[in-house]
Amino acid sequence: MLAFSNAKVFDGINNRLTQANVIIDGQRIVSVSDKPVDAGVEVVDCGGRTLMPGLIDAHIHAYFQDMNVSRLQHLPVTMYAHHAANMLGDMLDRGFTSVRDTGGADYGLWLAIQHNLIKAPRLFYCEKALSQTGGHVDMRHQHHHHPHDDHVVLCGCCFANPLGIVVDGVDSVRKVVREQLRRGASFIKFCGSGGVSTTSDPLDSIQFSNDEVRAIVEEVENHLVYCTAHIHPDKALKRAISLGVHCIEHGTLIEADTARMAAEKGTNIVPTLAVIAALAEHGETFGYPKESLEKLDRIKDEAVDRLRHMKSAGVRVGFGTDLIGAIQPMQCIEFGLRSSVFSNFEILNQATAVNAEIIGAKGEIGEIKPGAFADILVVDGNPLENLKLMEDDGAHIPVVMKAGAFHRNRLVQERAPN
Ligand code: ZN
Ligand code: ZN
Repeated sequence: MLAFSNAKVFDGINNRLTQANVIIDGQRIVSVSDKPVDAGVEVVDCGGRTLMPGLIDAHIHAYFQDMNVSRLQHLPVTMYAHHAANMLGDMLDRGFTSVRDTGGADYGLWLAIQHNLIKAPRLFYCEKALSQTGGHVDMRHQHHHHPHDDHVVLCGCCFANPLGIVVDGVDSVRKVVREQLRRGASFIKFCGSGGVSTTSDPLDSIQFSNDEVRAIVEEVENHLVYCTAHIHPDKALKRAISLGVHCIEHGTLIEADTARMAAEKGTNIVPTLAVIAALAEHGETFGYPKESLEKLDRIKDEAVDRLRHMKSAGVRVGFGTDLIGAIQPMQCIEFGLRSSVFSNFEILNQATAVNAEIIGAKGEIGEIKPGAFADILVVDGNPLENLKLMEDDGAHIPVVMKAGAFHRNRLVQERAPN
């Protein structure tokens, strides 16, 4: 047993702080109340600081080591694994106790985290994102042709697409979805439109046929999980929402009527502003391809503004960053980028309880309540009033706890007197 005493609790759900003692037993929270702590229990005195749920980033790529996808695909898998260990450790330092990888992370990485081989947030993974031939995560350059390319599964010893799998046709799509679910994916990601980082697919292209999308939706629903789609342009958003896709990544060029459609259908959207701002600022320096920078120009001034449509329609909006390669350390800029549209409370709610719901872990993480995992931050100050406390890479977060275990504790811990 361990108690956090004298804490002001933000529970992830309500826009207020409540004075309470929070009791942990093993990996879970067992009590949040103003009852005095029992004698003999180990106590961390929060000294009136804010205690809140660990942050959740719903859009990361643990294996996206190089911003240039034509270089990325030729790296050995051991390089991806070490990159992932490094970046996931940094994320935990910043207060992210859970992350959802939307393409790349696999059973092996999840297992390494389960076995405490690396310091990392808890990981939700989908294995590889599905792409049609020539789609957003088909990373082969236009000049690239090799007989092996015709096969769905690429061998990892000579050519390893670390993010995606290329698949075409309803039957093949079903097979790949089932295969990834067999390997423990807790959701399926597919690319429903063109993207920025790949060079050969127009941003406005609609990817996968309606029948292929219906097959994905049916397979995940049969398996009692959900799917999410990478999409930027409005037309592709409308198509995916109408076909029953459960979640959208980016949603960057959404129109007001489409946002209303998403709200009515209960389609979740995870905007990713950090990657857009970071690439606009540093992309050229770090070798982001020219074709990608041109596509970025299309969306970089729109992304923040379109959040207004989501907000006024009442869409369930998650919190994601999508940072890749050398810009990965800029994760915490996502808070500030949202603040011209959303309140501090709304942003903190998105990064905790709302994200938990979107990734299928409602009540397990993202909340401070009895029964939830003890994924806990203690913050120097009140982030509901001052969101900048979350933007400093964990500098104002003296305590980071994941599943009842301290990743960091800079506060005094002592036994409650008899
Ligand atoms: Zn994407
Ligand atoms: Zn992504």
